[in-house]
Amino acid sequence: MRMTHMIASPPVETWLYPAEAGLYCAPGQFYIDPHRAVDRAVITHGHSDHARAGHGAVLATSETIAIMKVRYGETSAGTFQQLALGEPVNINGVGVRLAPAGHILGSAQIVLDYDGKRAVVSGDYKRAYDPTCAAFDVVTCDVFVTEATFALPVFRHEPAHGEVAKLLASMAAEPQRTHVIGAYGLGKCQRMIAEIRNAGYDKPIYLHGAVVALTALYQSLGINLGDVRSVAGADGDAIAGGIVLCPPSALSDRWTRRFNDPVLAFASGWMRVRGRARQHGVELPLIVSDHADWPDLIATISQTNAEDVWVTHGRDDALVHHLATLGRKARALALVGRDDEAE
Ligand SMILES: [Zn+2]
Ligand SMILES: [Zn+2]
Repeated sequence: MRMTHMIASPPVETWLYPAEAGLYCAPGQFYIDPHRAVDRAVITHGHSDHARAGHGAVLATSETIAIMKVRYGETSAGTFQQLALGEPVNINGVGVRLAPAGHILGSAQIVLDYDGKRAVVSGDYKRAYDPTCAAFDVVTCDVFVTEATFALPVFRHEPAHGEVAKLLASMAAEPQRTHVIGAYGLGKCQRMIAEIRNAGYDKPIYLHGAVVALTALYQSLGINLGDVRSVAGADGDAIAGGIVLCPPSALSDRWTRRFNDPVLAFASGWMRVRGRARQHGVELPLIVSDHADWPDLIATISQTNAEDVWVTHGRDDALVHHLATLGRKARALALVGRDDEAE
């Protein structure tokens, strides 16, 4: 008998697949962003639906590790191993490296090379400019694992500088009213501050207590946010007519009553949907997202050249259907524990 062809590499799904605790790389014996504690985890970024406490060993960027330590404590994993973007490591025969995801500070795509095939697990990502993190890097691959938070054609985010211009115009029109901006506490809040600084606003920016620690961490990691101060203990007259950032949940609680007739704003991709703004009592919706919008999802998937696309969470059915009409193989992984409603 004669060999007539090369033995093909086994398909990626034979070595990377959803297991009980999350997406599992079998030869490497590690999970990516598992939703419960495991022996060995590789973590894409610090958001709580991806990074959890209690793993035996964590591999991530130094920034993601710093975020996990602030949120969960210094000993929230048995060991932390940091890996710089682009630096290769070998885990039980699987080539692993991290590529920037452009989502929040420290966010990374996990690039896996095994047996002649490459899979890229992108975690959450965006393509829009963000002054607080490295820009998304396209890595060509056989299998691309993508999120689908905003995977409906209606979702088209606006450039953040334009939304910040709206904020500054509103402040100029109503100089006595304090502008209180709801923004997700990790990533969005600090990005909004950086974007507001880029627009030339140099007065102090005030923070709700819940976003102070992570904002201080960003500053300690070299992100320049200018003069930021806690609302607690600040003089009410000094804050009046200024900018305050808070977690979205604070917009609808009595906490906002300390400000006299504030303008409530909310920076989120969900602000594209008018009903969502109304639901939060938001006067000034700002469409700023840390996730890819519909055109960027489609463009990114195409740029990776992946022959197979796995969709982790969000509007997975719409994306899988659309990719099928483009002749691309795609399927929903239906991973549990993902939640980007709060973005
Ligand atoms: Zn995230
Ligand atoms: Zn997420």
